[in-house]
Amino acid sequence: MQRIVVLAGGIGGARFLRGLKAAAPEADITVIGNTGDDIHLFGLKVCPDLDTVMYTLGGGINEEQGWGRTDETFKVKEELAAYGVGPEWFGLGDRDFATHIVRSQMLAAGYPLSAVTEALCDRWQPGVRLIPMSDDRVETHVAVELDGERKAIHFQEYWVRLRASVDALAVVPVGAEQAKPAPGVLEAVAEADVVLFPPSNPVVSVGTILAVPGIREAIADAGVPVVGLSPIVGDAPVRGMADKVLAAVGVESSAAAVAEHYGSGLLDGWLVDTVDKGAVERVEAAGIRCKAVPLMMTDLDATAEMARAALAMAEEVRG
Ligand code: GDP
Ligand code: CA
Repeated sequence: MQRIVVLAGGIGGARFLRGLKAAAPEADITVIGNTGDDIHLFGLKVCPDLDTVMYTLGGGINEEQGWGRTDETFKVKEELAAYGVGPEWFGLGDRDFATHIVRSQMLAAGYPLSAVTEALCDRWQPGVRLIPMSDDRVETHVAVELDGERKAIHFQEYWVRLRASVDALAVVPVGAEQAKPAPGVLEAVAEADVVLFPPSNPVVSVGTILAVPGIREAIADAGVPVVGLSPIVGDAPVRGMADKVLAAVGVESSAAAVAEHYGSGLLDGWLVDTVDKGAVERVEAAGIRCKAVPLMMTDLDATAEMARAALAMAEEVRG
């Protein structure tokens, strides 16, 4: 059985995983999820990326939005607002609240996040093994200048409240340096036949996972093909504001620059969209095998085809 490890953020990662499951139904898939987006709200621990993967693969996602539950209502949020309790800018629906309550209750009882995630997945049956990158608290902060003052704000405040409307001056995964990979993470990498980077945000999703000491090294040393798919198509993110956080780490918003940012020490293969076929030569010059294929996850078939292309490239570079 083929063992595939995927480092995933939220929407981009989750949608790709749906295609991967369709492309490789027999494969044993382990997802290492980003927890740098996690935030404490109303006394609850919210893990947006883990939940997006879990709900998407488990059939509970709001498809149009790409995050949150389907068939959602917002009564609890309205009641909180009536008490003047915010933040009002973070959308938490009633159904979603239950997930965060269960998670917070289990964490308070002493279970590590990895065990809690496993318990939540018992209900959702995502068809993959979903492991948070770490059981330790990591929180991505973004340095910005607001009202002439430089300050660091939580990633969610930058992304959701400010809609990335100001420049990101720096992106810091606070706590990552002290964090340990969650149980199962390094083992999954060591036993993998292939490691995939889905079209997730290279800075605040995949980059944060790689910032946990040991994970980048384990992947680089695993001796198995590492293949990524570009989240940047035609020099812009397909969705979201990845260009803002790429600029913060000094990387231009292009498919080739993201491949170079990961580097040939980590990446063996890189897929760019057909509109970026001009980038293939530059990526190959950086020592990374590259190919242009359609990379728009418009539906399940198109996404499965992307996953097949990534697995085919893995075989090509296995050499
Ligand atoms: P987030 O945590 O919800 O922001 O999700 P991820 O980090 O997993 O993925 C975000 C990235 O997915 C963004 O940079 C988008 O450009 C990328 N993305 C979204 N949809 C598509 C798509 O259809 N094709 C490609 N190539 N990238 C996509
Ligand atoms: Ca995210």
